[in-house]
Formats: sequence, structure tokens, C-alpha cells
Amino acid sequence: MTDERATPPSFEPLPEDWQSALFVVAHPDDIEYGAAAAVARWTGQGKRIVYCMVTSGEAGIDGLHPDESGPLREAEELASAAAVGVEEVEFLRLPDGILEYGVALRRSIAEVVRRHRPDIALTINFRETFGGTTLNQADHIAVGKALLDAVRDAGNRWVFPEQLTDGLEPWGGVRAVWSGGSPQATHAVDVTDTFAAGVASLKEHQAYIEGLGWEGWDPEEFLDGILRGGGQGLGVTHAATFEVFPLGWGD
Ligand SMILES: [Zn+2]
Repeated sequence: MTDERATPPSFEPLPEDWQSALFVVAHPDDIEYGAAAAVARWTGQGKRIVYCMVTSGEAGIDGLHPDESGPLREAEELASAAAVGVEEVEFLRLPDGILEYGVALRRSIAEVVRRHRPDIALTINFRETFGGTTLNQADHIAVGKALLDAVRDAGNRWVFPEQLTDGLEPWGGVRAVWSGGSPQATHAVDVTDTFAAGVASLKEHQAYIEGLGWEGWDPEEFLDGILRGGGQGLGVTHAATFEVFPLGWGD
């Protein structure tokens, strides 16, 4: 007899034998819909995590002009990062909503990789959808694809060689790119103990959340829903899920 009920996906735990990570996303708030709880766990282990926001999310609040929205959203992201133990947040200030995947974006990200020299590079889902038919956003897709390239560009001294001045060296030490919340996730991180920190980090995006105008939307309930799904696949209460792109040949 075969059991024909659909089995929930099962996830492998992500390795934690690394020291530093660079989390590159398009917008303030991208990290806070699940991955931040994993960041809280890792900073709690003494790992160093740096955030890099490619834009300041200035086109994200319909009722607020970008000139006002950008600085506000940067401030919210700084508070959000602090809530999960992240002290360094960089803003590249490229234009929100119209990022283009290509050499220019790879160059910008490679420079950040070369400066921070992380073991792991992180981003959020950059597949076409969030699963089902919910379309992903163009900036997320552009940044994720560019990051996959940029971590390799960063290691090649003949790619963007103009960056290699004032002591900046190539960095080919990124072991993998992990993409949070991908519909093709294979791995997960137990965030049962850092769930509250994840909620706190999401709540820091108050102006943005109010700007969305989602009546009665509760950040805690929302994150609980997302992270319980991951938890089921890892055999814990809450887990953040990731798709893994290893670098180099095979594992
Ligand atoms: Zn976003």
C-alpha cells in the first residue's frame, strides 16, 4: 500500500559553521518577512551579519513622496536590523522599482562583497513567483540574479578591476548564496527561540505597514503563518526556509 496523501516538504538544516554573512536585498523590509528571525539566531551565536539595501524603498508608500519616504524607510530598516543584532546596514540608493539586472548592478554588489568578505551571501526569493501564481517583484528578481553573479565577479581580479584600489582585494570566499522564502527552498533554520525578535524587526516598519493600508493586518500572526510552514518541514515550531545555491563545483 502506498500512502497517497500529499507529504509536506521536508527541509534540511542549514550549516552554521561560518562566521560572516552579507544579506543583500532590494528594499527595506525584504528581510523582515521571515529571514530576520534566522538572522537573530545567527547574531546570537556571535556571527557577523551586514545588511545591504540596494534601494531605500522610496517608491514603496503610495501616499508619501520618495524624498520623504526614502529617509523614513532607511531609519525603519536601521531599527529593524538592530532588533535582530545587526549593526551595519548599507544603502546603495539605486532607484526603487526600476532596478535592472545587468553589469551595472553586478558591479555595485561585487564592490560590497569585496569590502565585507563574507562566508555566506544571502538574499530573498528571486524566483518568478512566491509559489503558486503570486508574482514576485522585479527588483527582487534583479537583485537576486545579480548577487549570484556578483559573488563570483568579486573573486576575479580582472572583473571590475577599477575597484581594486586603496587595498581592496578580490574576494572569492563566498561559499554559497541562500535565498530566503524561495518556493524552491530545500533548507531551513529553526527560529523557534528567535521568533519574537523576528516579529519585533517586522514591527519596526510601521510607516510602511500603515502605508499599505491592510486593515487589521497583524505582523505577529502573519509571521507565525509563514514560519510555522517552515517549522513543519523541519520538525520544529518555527523555521525560516532557504533555497541554497552552492558555489564551486558540486558540494
Ligand atoms: Zn521588496
